[in-house]
Parts: sequence; structure tokens; C-alpha cells
Amino acid sequence: MARTDPPAAPPATDLDALLAVLDALPARIQAELAGLGTEAAVRDAQARALKGPIAEGQAAIRQAPGPTRRTIGAALNKAKTAVEAAAAARLQALAREALDAELRRQIDVSLPGRAPRPGHLHIITQVRRDIVDIFRELGFEIAEGPQVETDFNNFEALNIPKDHPARDMQDTFYVTDDVVLRTHTSPVQIRTMLRQQPPVKVICPGQVYRRDDDPTHSRMFSQVEGLLVDRDVSMADLKGTLLHFVRRFFGPGVKLRFRPSFFPFTEPSAEVDMSCIFCGGKGCRLCKQSGWLEIGGSGMVDPEVFKAVGYDPEAVTGYAFGLGIERMAMLRHGVNDIRLYYEGDVRFLRQF
Ligand SMILES: [Zn+2]
Repeated sequence: MARTDPPAAPPATDLDALLAVLDALPARIQAELAGLGTEAAVRDAQARALKGPIAEGQAAIRQAPGPTRRTIGAALNKAKTAVEAAAAARLQALAREALDAELRRQIDVSLPGRAPRPGHLHIITQVRRDIVDIFRELGFEIAEGPQVETDFNNFEALNIPKDHPARDMQDTFYVTDDVVLRTHTSPVQIRTMLRQQPPVKVICPGQVYRRDDDPTHSRMFSQVEGLLVDRDVSMADLKGTLLHFVRRFFGPGVKLRFRPSFFPFTEPSAEVDMSCIFCGGKGCRLCKQSGWLEIGGSGMVDPEVFKAVGYDPEAVTGYAFGLGIERMAMLRHGVNDIRLYYEGDVRFLRQF
């Protein structure tokens, strides 16, 4: 046959060669797959096997006359099915081997176990709960409120009008002119009194915000405030309650003293000091040689506050106090920088 003649069909020898290749394909791929150990390698070999001879066969089909086409087509299908079946079988075998290996894995039951490392509550949460628990034993109920407050609840109702100098004392984060990040938990007391009639006996724990930032002040910190309103409540009730608290929290020997002070929302007002737990009151560096540590503020609720919430100041009296939770935790655990509580360093937090 002259080379220039267009081939009517693939030469018989070429066709025979192609059929031989297709015929041998299943055995060849099986041998190759047997040596492969990963799913990716198996899929790769499968793709290569189909690409070469099978693409060649498909090209031959397009040129071949009818009967030859059927022969090639049948051989192609057989080869393709065989390659796919071989690959699937190999993948299945690999999966079985992996499972067998997992099941054969020796477990040394004499090895010591790996202890789980459970987390624990943050020290501030622990201290807050301890404080709240002591007051709950005394019959106080927990009251909570939002951290973003109205000017009325945070200042106005607490006898701190707009031009009051006390507003300078509390460097405030203002959201708008009439909305603030609460500077104390006292607005929760206002909310409680607006909601219910006396008697009131609540403890208000929560986060508060001021524009302070130094080793003993943080922009965000936690307070617990207490409020008791009833008939004939006296300063002696306040002092007795706080004395019970510090002795339950710090230890039985602790003493308490009130120092006259001023807060717009209490009259009279008192700073609360307890005897220094580090030196027993003799005087040391931590109490600045005074023998006393300041722990909070307190006083008898100002009649103006009762008027703001619609209580009759002639009929009821009450006391209120506020304690800093971080301050309590710093004193109880000897921590000297408030910022350590919020840095999230587990080496610090793990100690408590
Ligand atoms: Zn001291």
C-alpha cells in the first residue's frame, strides 16, 4: 500500500497491536497498583492508564469501519471496566490494611495515663462567687442590670446632677450625652427600687467602667454593691453586716472601722477599712504603716435617692455599700497589679 493512500481502516497490524495493548492493560495495571500504598498514588495510576491506550483506542474507533469499530469498542470497554475495578479493589485493600494496622496496634496498659488538663474559673469569677455567697447566706438576693446605662440611672437618680463635681471624680465613658458605660453598679439599685416596694435586700455584682489605667485601677473592673431598705435600718446594721462579711472572707480576727467620707448618694457616708491582713494591724509596707486597708465605701441611703425612685424617706431607711472585687482578690491573694487579671497569661491564672 502506497503511503500517500488515505487509510480506509487502521492497518491490521496496528489494530492487532492496539487490541493486544488493551487486552494486557488489566494485568499491567494490577501489577502496578499492587506496589502502590496510598490512595493518591492509586488514583494517579488509574488516570494515567486510561489516558494512554484508551485515548488511542477512542481515536482508532473514529477512523475504523463498522465491524472493526465494534471490536475495538468492546475491547475498550472491557479494558476500562477492568482498570476501574482494579483501582477500586486496590483502594478497598488499602482501607482494610489501614484498619487492620489500627486494630493490631499494641496498647501498653502499664503506661501511666495522660491526665486531662481541665480549666478552671477565672480568679475574679471565683472571688465574685465567694463574696456573693456570703451575702446570700444573709438573705440578700442577686440583682443585675445592663452595663450600658442611662444618665438618669447612673447619676441623676443617685443625687449626682449634671453639674455635680462628683461626675469629675468618676471619669466616665459617655456613649451619648444621656447614655454612659456604668461607672458603678449603683444603677442596679435604682432599677431594683423603681421596680419594687420596700423592703429591698439585694447584692449587685457586675462590671463597671472608668477611664483609669494604672497598677491599681483598670478601665473595666468589677464591683459588688449591697442595698438594704426597710424600716429602722441603722448604721449599726451596716457595720455588723460588713464585719460579718470581712471575717467570713478574710478570716475571723479581722477588725473593721468606718472613716467619715462623702458620697452624693449616702448620708452619712463612710469609707470602710479593715485591719491589715498582712501585718495584723501593726503597720507594714502594704498598709503604708497605718495598720488599715481600705476595702470600699458605704453609708445610709440619701433621702434624695429615695425621692428619685418614689419611696417615702419618712417611712423607710436603708444602707448601701460597694466593694471592688479585684481589690478583694488582690488583698486575699497578694496580687500587686490589677492588670494581671485581664492579660490572660495562664502562668498567672493557673496559680488560683
Ligand atoms: Zn500592714
